[in-house]
Amino acid sequence: MKNSLSRSLQAVSGGARSQLQSRIQGAVITPADPEYNPARQAWNLSVDQHPALIVLAEEAGDVAAAVQYAVENELNISVQATGHGLAQPAEGTLLVVTSRMKSIRVDTAARTAWIGAGAKWGEVLAQTQPVGLAPLLGSSPDVGVVGYTLGGGYGWLGRKFGLAADSVRFFELVTADGHTLRASAEENSDLFWGLRGGGGSLGIVTGMVIDLYPITTVYGGNLFYPIQAAREVMARYREWIATVPDELTSSVVLMNFPPIPLVPEPLQGQSFVMVRGCHCGPSAEGQALLQPWRDWRAPFIDDFKEMPFGEVGTISNDPVDPLPVFSTGAWMKALPDTAVDVLVRHGTAGDGPPPLLMTEVRHVGGAVARGRSQAGAFGNREAELLLFMVGLTPTPDAYGALARYTQQVKERLGPFLTGGVYMNFLEGQEARLRAKDGFPPENYARLIQLKRDYDPHHRLRSGFLG
Ligand SMILES: Cc1cc2nc3c(=O)[nH]c(=O)nc-3n(C[C@H](O)[C@H](O)[C@H](O)COP(=O)(O)OP(=O)(O)OC[C@H]3O[C@@H](n4cnc5c(N)ncnc54)[C@H](O)[C@@H]3O)c2cc1C
Repeated sequence: MKNSLSRSLQAVSGGARSQLQSRIQGAVITPADPEYNPARQAWNLSVDQHPALIVLAEEAGDVAAAVQYAVENELNISVQATGHGLAQPAEGTLLVVTSRMKSIRVDTAARTAWIGAGAKWGEVLAQTQPVGLAPLLGSSPDVGVVGYTLGGGYGWLGRKFGLAADSVRFFELVTADGHTLRASAEENSDLFWGLRGGGGSLGIVTGMVIDLYPITTVYGGNLFYPIQAAREVMARYREWIATVPDELTSSVVLMNFPPIPLVPEPLQGQSFVMVRGCHCGPSAEGQALLQPWRDWRAPFIDDFKEMPFGEVGTISNDPVDPLPVFSTGAWMKALPDTAVDVLVRHGTAGDGPPPLLMTEVRHVGGAVARGRSQAGAFGNREAELLLFMVGLTPTPDAYGALARYTQQVKERLGPFLTGGVYMNFLEGQEARLRAKDGFPPENYARLIQLKRDYDPHHRLRSGFLG
C-alpha cells in the first residue's frame, strides 16, 4: 500500500506528468488540477474514485502511451468511457478516459460501422439511421458502445438479431503491456473470443467494427396499468411472451416514479406496472400483438406507436444526467405466481416508500439463445427471462442498504433463478464476486487463463475479473 502510494505520488510529480504529456495528444490531469474532480466523475454518482493520474485520450496512440507510462512507473490501469457500469473504482490507478475518442465511420454497403472507444449509442444511431441502418443498442442511448458490447449487450432488437457482442467483426486494443493489436476470428482469436461478452479485463479497446441491420421504423412503447394490477399483468405477461415472434423484444416493469421535477407531473410519486416493448417487423403486426392487452383492459397510458428507430431511447426513457444508483440482476428460470408475488411485494411500496425505482423482467431467448455459444465467452444464453433491479442511492448507507435488500429479494426468488448472472446488470463488488456465475465453468476458466496470459502483472483493474 505504502509502495503503491509513493509510486502514485512519483507518477504525478511535475516532471513525470510533463513527460507523459509530451507523448500524447490528449490531456493529462493530476489531483492538483482544477479539472481533476470533473474528470474523475462517473455517470453513476455512487462511484467515488481517486485515480493517481487521468489521461483524457484523443486517439489509440494516447492509450498505448498511457499504458506504457503506467508500465514504466508500475501503476495499475483503469478505463472508463461514461461510468455507467464500473466494476471497480479507479483508486490510485492511471485512469484512461476514452470519452473523447468518438470517431464513427459507417460503411453503408458493407452494413458495418467503425466505432471509437468513447462513442455512446445515441451518437452511433445519429449516424446510422440516415443511411437506413440500426446498431444493437440497449435501453439507453447514453450508454457507451464498447463497455456495453464487452459485457454482451442486450437491447430492443436482441431477440431478432442477438447480442451486440455477437455482432462484432473485430476489436482493436492496447494490451496491459502497451502493445496494440487486432482481435478477430482470424487474428488473436483467443482474445476475440474473450472480448465477446467477457468484459473489459483483457485490454483497453480503442475501437471496433460492428454489424448494422436494416431497421428504420419500429412499433414500440409502454402500456401503463395501475400498480394494483401488478400480479395479474405479470401473470398475463408470462403467458403472452410464450406466443410472440422474435421481432418483438419486451419486458414487464414495476415502476416507482420518484416525486421529482425530472418526472412528468402526473407520474410523480406514482407506481405502475408496465408492459414495454419494441417490434421491428411491420407495424400492423406489432399492433396486432398488443391488441390482447388492450382488449383485456384499457391501460392508464398507452404510448405504443410507430416510431423512427432513432427514437428507440424514448421507450425506456432512462435518465441521462448522472445519478447515484445501484443495480443488480439475475437470470430467471420461470415466472410462476410465487415469483410474481416476491417481485410485487418487494418491488412496490409496502409500509414506506419503495426502495426500488424499477424492477424489470426482460424476455430474452430468440436470437440470443440461438447465438453460437462457442463464438464468445458470453454465458447463460439458454435462460429466457432476465431480472434487472435499479434504485437510487444518494448516500453510501443507502447503497449498502439497497444491495442488502436486493440480495434478500434474490434469495426469496432462489428456486426460480438459474444461478447465473448477466454481467452488464451487475456493478461494483457484486460484479467481481459473481463473475464466475456470468459464464459456464469452462468459459470462466478460459477467461481467467486469458487474463493471466494477456495481463500477467494484473495491471488492468477496471473489469469484473479483478
Ligand atoms: C441507465 C442504464 C441502462 C442500461 N441499459 C442496458 C441495456 O439495455 N442492456 C445492456 O446490456 N446493458 C445495459 N446497461 C448496462 C451497461 O451496458 C453497462 O453498465 C456497461 O458496462 C456500460 O458501459 P459504459 O462504457 O457506458 O460504462 P463505463 O462505466 O465507462 O464502463 C464500464 C466497464 O466497461 C469496460 N470498458 C469500458 N470501455 C472500455 C474499453 N475501451 N476497453 C476495455 N474495457 C472497457 C470497463 O471494464 C469498464 O469498467 C445499462 C446501464 C445503465 C446505467
